[in-house]
Amino acid sequence: MNILILGSGGREHSLAWAIKQNPKCDRLIVAPGNAGIAQLAECADLDILDGAAVVAFCEANAVDFVVVGPEAPLAAGVADMTRAAGLLTFGPSAEAAQLEASKRFTKEVCDACNAPTAAWARFDKAEPAKGYIRAQGAPIVVKADGLAAGKGVIVAMTEAEALAAIDDMFGGEFGAAGAEVVIEEFMAGEEASFFVLTDGETVLPIGTAQDHKRAFDGDEGPNTGGMGAYCPAPVLTMAIQRQALDEIVKPTVAEMTRRGMPYRGVLYAGLMIENGRARLVEYNARFGDPECQVMMMRLGAQALDLLLACAEGRLAEAQVNWATDHALTVVMAAKGYPGSYAKGSVIGGLETLPETSSQMVFHAGTAERDGKIVANGGRVLNVTARGATLAEARDRAYAMVEAIDWPEGFCRKDIGWRAL
Ligand code: ATP
Repeated sequence: MNILILGSGGREHSLAWAIKQNPKCDRLIVAPGNAGIAQLAECADLDILDGAAVVAFCEANAVDFVVVGPEAPLAAGVADMTRAAGLLTFGPSAEAAQLEASKRFTKEVCDACNAPTAAWARFDKAEPAKGYIRAQGAPIVVKADGLAAGKGVIVAMTEAEALAAIDDMFGGEFGAAGAEVVIEEFMAGEEASFFVLTDGETVLPIGTAQDHKRAFDGDEGPNTGGMGAYCPAPVLTMAIQRQALDEIVKPTVAEMTRRGMPYRGVLYAGLMIENGRARLVEYNARFGDPECQVMMMRLGAQALDLLLACAEGRLAEAQVNWATDHALTVVMAAKGYPGSYAKGSVIGGLETLPETSSQMVFHAGTAERDGKIVANGGRVLNVTARGATLAEARDRAYAMVEAIDWPEGFCRKDIGWRAL
């Protein structure tokens, strides 16, 4: 079959890498892709937020299956348009993707199905929001309702910080995303990510992971899109996974179906674990980046069968062939990220690293110039390895980092510390 993946990050490189290994995949196109993806698939210059353009491209290229990587095309309804055009599509409808796009929506769904999550309230004016904060006290969490690329959340340790966040949000710092604010109880504990596929009826767990949001070692510095990840996440024991499935994920999926907006795709539950129990922090309507890279490394070719079963509503008969080892990815970013950074520096040494089923450099912000790979974004490479133990996966990933000659880049040296 001919497959189109939408996206251009490390997530999409790892999806392409896994899907390409499956004999069902004849032709693989990624739009817009990046320099690493171009080494294993065709890259197409396509505006992935333009559903009509995506449909026309699929028709012109006899695409049989569309896989939507990032959240922006989901929120823009691209999966709705491809499905309406009769194209088999992996990715939830825009209505269902509200589980990521609107924090208020998610909180209402959780309340409707009694899923454990932080107590909350919503406000569209500053004064009542401030009154609520003064009544609750700190620590407390202030969130812009809409999508703000992870920047619309203030975990306020003091009341003054929370009040200032209210002024910023209603002052327009997050544009339309901040017109409404959700204020939440602060949850203590350890965070982990739980991934399931669902076709609206069956829920199939496909993996757990932990990510590293802060830019620098020891979880210092500003928040980023993610500086590294590993899979599985030992904090998500089988017992906690079962509890999260029974109390959070399955009730959410059932509630979405009951509302007439069945969720079909990957559902990524961000969980807070405390005293052996999980509570929901947030949902995402797509694979995490960089969590996808470590999950794809362990799932390999079967990923395509699972995504197809999900899109075709056949998950009840699907099974995961679980790997028993560990995978870890180290993100190499351009110096300055997540602030301003330069583009165009040359990355050397990649050709010395063999690409195998147990080690891969997944590209994110890269481009090719005169036959050389150059940095073309903030997060640039995802250096990924497997090992019989997490320590072995880490050592192999960092040995690969050593072989990469890119003085303009940096990475965290402590990926995996929580589990090691
Ligand atoms: P991202 O998708 O980048 O994780 P987001 O904008 O969707 O971010 P959330 O996931 O809701 O926002 O929050 C971002 C982070 O803030 C969480 O990963 C968590 O560390 C922290 N956080 C959010 N809500 C709470 C809470 N109620 N208690 C404690 N920490 C929280």
